[in-house]
Amino acid sequence: ISPLRKKPIETRATCCYCGVGCGVIIESDGAQVTGVRGDPEHPANLGRLCTKGSTLHLAAAPELQAQARALVPELRARRDEERKPVSWAEAQDQLARRIADTIRRHGPDSVAFYISGQLLTEDYYVFNKLAKGLIGTNNIDTNSRLCMSSAVAGYKRTLGADAPPACYEDLELADVLFIAGSNTAYAHPVLYRRIEEARRRNPAMRMIVADPRVTDTARDADLHLPILPGTDVALFNGMLHLCIEEGTIDAAYIDAHTEGFDAVKRRVADYTPAFVAATCGIAERDLLQAARWFGQSRAALSLYCQGLNQSASGTAKNVALVNLHLATGQIGKPGAGPFSLTGQPNAMGGREVGGMANLLSGHRDLANAEHRAEVARLWGVDAVPAAPGKTALPMFEAVAKGEIKILWIACTNPAQSLPDQKLVREALQRAELVIVQEAYRHTATADYADVLLPATTWGEKEGTVTNSERRITRVRAALPAPGEARHDWRIVVEVARRLESLLGRERSLFPYEGPEAIWNEHRETTRGRDLDITGLSWRILEQRGPQQWPYPEGARTGLKRLYEDGIFPTPSGRARFVDAAYEPVAEPTDARYPFRLNTGRLRDQWHGMSRTGTVARLYAHAPEPAVAMAAADMQRHGLRQGDLVHVTSRRGSQIVPAQSSEDMKSGQVFIGMHWGEEFLSGRGPGGAGSHGVNALTLPALDPYSFQPELKHAAVKILKAELP
Ligand code: SF4
Repeated sequence: ISPLRKKPIETRATCCYCGVGCGVIIESDGAQVTGVRGDPEHPANLGRLCTKGSTLHLAAAPELQAQARALVPELRARRDEERKPVSWAEAQDQLARRIADTIRRHGPDSVAFYISGQLLTEDYYVFNKLAKGLIGTNNIDTNSRLCMSSAVAGYKRTLGADAPPACYEDLELADVLFIAGSNTAYAHPVLYRRIEEARRRNPAMRMIVADPRVTDTARDADLHLPILPGTDVALFNGMLHLCIEEGTIDAAYIDAHTEGFDAVKRRVADYTPAFVAATCGIAERDLLQAARWFGQSRAALSLYCQGLNQSASGTAKNVALVNLHLATGQIGKPGAGPFSLTGQPNAMGGREVGGMANLLSGHRDLANAEHRAEVARLWGVDAVPAAPGKTALPMFEAVAKGEIKILWIACTNPAQSLPDQKLVREALQRAELVIVQEAYRHTATADYADVLLPATTWGEKEGTVTNSERRITRVRAALPAPGEARHDWRIVVEVARRLESLLGRERSLFPYEGPEAIWNEHRETTRGRDLDITGLSWRILEQRGPQQWPYPEGARTGLKRLYEDGIFPTPSGRARFVDAAYEPVAEPTDARYPFRLNTGRLRDQWHGMSRTGTVARLYAHAPEPAVAMAAADMQRHGLRQGDLVHVTSRRGSQIVPAQSSEDMKSGQVFIGMHWGEEFLSGRGPGGAGSHGVNALTLPALDPYSFQPELKHAAVKILKAELP
């Protein structure tokens, strides 16, 4: 190394991918990112990074930025025209005028916002205030609806609050880890490193994995339960049945801290080992072993993710698992608890500020009149509208029907990630105005934009995020915004102020000069709530590093673990058992569509690949999309490795290579969720025009969380005839 080489500038931030929320140190020369390394002082990762996190700087390389980034605002007057570059003032004036005019003609509910768990908390806060406080619509939802909403509904129905009760340290303190519906090794790799190290230190620790696939996580388990897709409720109820039968429930805990056990006890009486083993497709002895390890353990920690959440019975799966913890007293103590692993980096922060159709600031509920009045008071508006807003998929249905005229999409790619792509694309065509606020110009959704607003992204933004263990971290900008890109919060505030003057509002609801002022207002909305952070400030985050909530006024530190006192945020102070019955998947297989399609993450890609798809190294693990199949099924269909096949559901079709995989049981297939048309185009016959795996998935929703069933669809597989 040349002695003249200048020391890089170091900036502390977080990784922008998954909900582990690893701290990173960005190295830059002030103009470009030159490297990235794990922050040894960040409690989430203690210096570790996974493949995605350690290549963050490569996705920020200047040559990629020039090709991939949206750098100037663009506008088109008509759908059949190309967008043309315009000034920010022109784009924002037009946008505010169109919104004001549409509200006048069709009412506030003709406008909708679809935003993202990758925005910072401050961005989320102003979007939510613009929709619910200024425009007067609750039509604001986010891609977090596809991610954690069933976990949220599960926590609220049982424990009384959207608050994961455990912390990462509990991974090291558990003696039984029960991983359900999560390939933690791929989806939360740095947490998985912590699990591997904890198991090395404590060889007596047991790991049970419930997953239809033999994932890398399942391969490492002491006991793998390869349940049939969608049968999780039967499994959890069956385990509780056995815990009751074997006397490993904690009667004293149930008496002192819970309510509603009798109804659940009656329900699980039907879940006999024979019934559960047949329903789940597992051996009775394995079910018994799992129930014994769980029930007899000193501390059992459950980790769960999309296998539970992305389901038409996602909430039932979540509550059935929480029931198991409550009945065995495995909550509110070190190493124990039901611990949902957040998918996105700031899905939690988005919910804290109420940035969803059914929520309000400070974990308040829109359906609660008192909560609406409190938020109206805090914001200084007459009222927050009571009419429920549209959640993710119903929002696009309403656009397709012409009920919603303007759709403002920020930092997400619904033309790839939502199920039933045919409907989503019809909606985007039908909308009178599609606004896309994005850092990247090559997403499938950006193609539909009438207005493209270039936004800053990782390494360029200032604000806060909250990770899976309720830990808030300050993220900092290492670089100036490229081109004319602006920060998300600023874009929203500038349009909101224009709209205020068009609507005749004198005192602005958006007086912010920077993200800290927004965060301070958000902090005030949490006073007295379960997530109270009134004792926290940006100064404390600067001086003492990332902190967990709650952190009320007067506290010296945040709370590591919730409910250690056995008091829950419910009207009675007791946790609630919630009766959950097993329901089959929404679209069962039949003679025409005989395969069960499962979708999910691969190790080295993130979501729709807007960022990871620009890094060559990240294709080494999986160079192209494929349908993973059991060898026996390949043979039965006369398929060889790499043969192109049509995978077809009742809604659409995708052409992908078939790949024999030991991960798969016969009758089940798996396709990674990442490849959309921008990455498929030009990559073989399945490319151009393919909408990725969500051409196949169905719009069935959970009745409580409204989360779609992305983890199961019935499909058929036919060998593709090549021209
Ligand atoms: Fe980023 Fe998640 Fe990997 Fe950590 S584990 S480096 S947050 S992708």
